[in-house]
Amino acid sequence: MPAVRKVLVVGAGISGAAAAIRLAAGGVAVDVIEMLPEAGAAGSGITLQGNALRVLRELGVWDRLRARGHGFDSLGIRAPDAHGTLLAEVTDSRTGGADLPATFGTYRPVLARLLLDRAAQAGARIRFGTSFTAIRPDDDGVDVTLTDHRTARYDLVIGADGLRSAVRREIGVDLVTREVGIEIWRVVTARPPSVERTDLIFGGPAYIAGYCPTGPDSMYAYLAEAPRHRGPLSPAESLEVVRSLAAGYHGPWDEIAFTDPAGINFTKFRAHLLDGPWNRGRVVLIGDAAHTSPPTLAQGAAMSLEDAAVLGELLLSATKVDDTLWKEFTARRLERVRTVVDASLEMCRWLLEGVRGDVPGLHARVAALVSRRA
Ligand SMILES: Cc1cc2nc3c(=O)[nH]c(=O)nc-3n(C[C@H](O)[C@H](O)[C@H](O)COP(=O)(O)OP(=O)(O)OC[C@H]3O[C@@H](n4cnc5c(N)ncnc54)[C@H](O)[C@@H]3O)c2cc1C
Repeated sequence: MPAVRKVLVVGAGISGAAAAIRLAAGGVAVDVIEMLPEAGAAGSGITLQGNALRVLRELGVWDRLRARGHGFDSLGIRAPDAHGTLLAEVTDSRTGGADLPATFGTYRPVLARLLLDRAAQAGARIRFGTSFTAIRPDDDGVDVTLTDHRTARYDLVIGADGLRSAVRREIGVDLVTREVGIEIWRVVTARPPSVERTDLIFGGPAYIAGYCPTGPDSMYAYLAEAPRHRGPLSPAESLEVVRSLAAGYHGPWDEIAFTDPAGINFTKFRAHLLDGPWNRGRVVLIGDAAHTSPPTLAQGAAMSLEDAAVLGELLLSATKVDDTLWKEFTARRLERVRTVVDASLEMCRWLLEGVRGDVPGLHARVAALVSRRA
C-alpha cells in the first residue's frame, strides 16, 4: 500500500496538476483546489526544455502536447546590430532523451488544459474557485478547512500554490522573495518564416531580446529590460513600449509584427530558494512555492514538473510518510534545483553588470545536469 491514500493538492498550476496526475494514476484519492475560477484562461508562451518533456511524457501528456507546439534543437545568439547578425549557433542537448526535442515552445493555456484534463482522467477531483482557510497537521494526517466551509482530513497536503504560496505562510515557513532588478515583456504574436527556433540577443535597448516559436504560425517574443518605473500603462501604451523596444532589434525581428495589446504580459524577475526540507510534517511545498528563478534558462516549469514526479514516485513506493521519505526527497531535489536557480541568477548578474559571460558554456553545464534523471 502506498504511503498515502488521500491527498490534497493546493494549486492547479504546472506542479500541482503534475502531482495530481502522478498520484491519482497510482491509485491515490486526490483533491485539487484552485483559487481561480478556471484553468489556464490567460497566459503567454512557455519554453519547455527536454527534461520537462520527459516528465510530461511519463505523465501521459506529451502525445497530445506535441501537436500543439513547436520543437527544435538549436539556440542562436545574435548581435544587437543593424542586421541581427548570427554570432553563434549552439546545438542544444536533448536533455529529456534522444527521442524528445531539446526545446519545445507552446502556449501556457494549452499546457494547463492538457495537464488538468489528464489529472481529471486519472481520477483527481478538481475544484475551481476554492482555497483553504486552515491547514492543521498532526502526526497521522492533516485537517483542512476550505473556503466553502467544508472540512476534510488528508494523509498529506501538497502546497503547489506558486511564488506567493499561502500554504507556505500557513505552515510558518519564512521565505524572502527578492526582485532581481530586471523586468520582462512577453508578447504572443504571429510567427514569420524567419523565426525557426529561439535566438537570443544580449544588449541593445533591452538586456535580452528573444523569441520562441509555439506553432507553425505562432510564437512569443520577450524583451527583458531594467526597471523603467513607467507606472500603470494602458494596453495601447504597453504595445507602444514593446514596439519601441523591438524596433532596436533586427534580422528576424524586422519581420515580427506587434499589433495585439491583448497578447502582452509584463512581469518582474524574482528569485527564492527554500533550504531543505520542503515539508513541515505532512505538508510539503513543491514548484514555485519552494523555489523560483528568473527564466533565463527556462527551467522553472521543468524543475516544478520534476518535483511533482519525484514526490509522486516516493509517495507511491514508500509505505509510510516519515523522515526517510523526506530526506530522500531533499536529497533528490534540493541541490539540483539550487544549481538551476544559481545558474539562472548568474546570467542575470552578467546582464546587470555588463559582463560578457559564457552563455553557451552555462547552458551546457545545466544541460549536463538535467539530462540525468531527477
Ligand atoms: C516571466 C516568466 C517567464 C517564465 N518562462 C518560463 C519558461 O519559458 N519555461 C519554464 O520552464 N519556466 C518558465 N517560468 C517559470 C514557470 O512559469 C514556473 O516555474 C511554473 O509556472 C511554476 O509552476 P507552479 O505550478 O509551481 O506555480 P504556478 O504556475 O504559479 O501555479 C500555482 C497555482 O496555484 C494557484 N493558487 C495560488 N494560491 C492559491 C491558494 N491559496 N489556493 C488555491 N490555489 C492557489 C494559482 O492560481 C496557480 O494556478 C517563467 C516564469 C516567469 C515569471
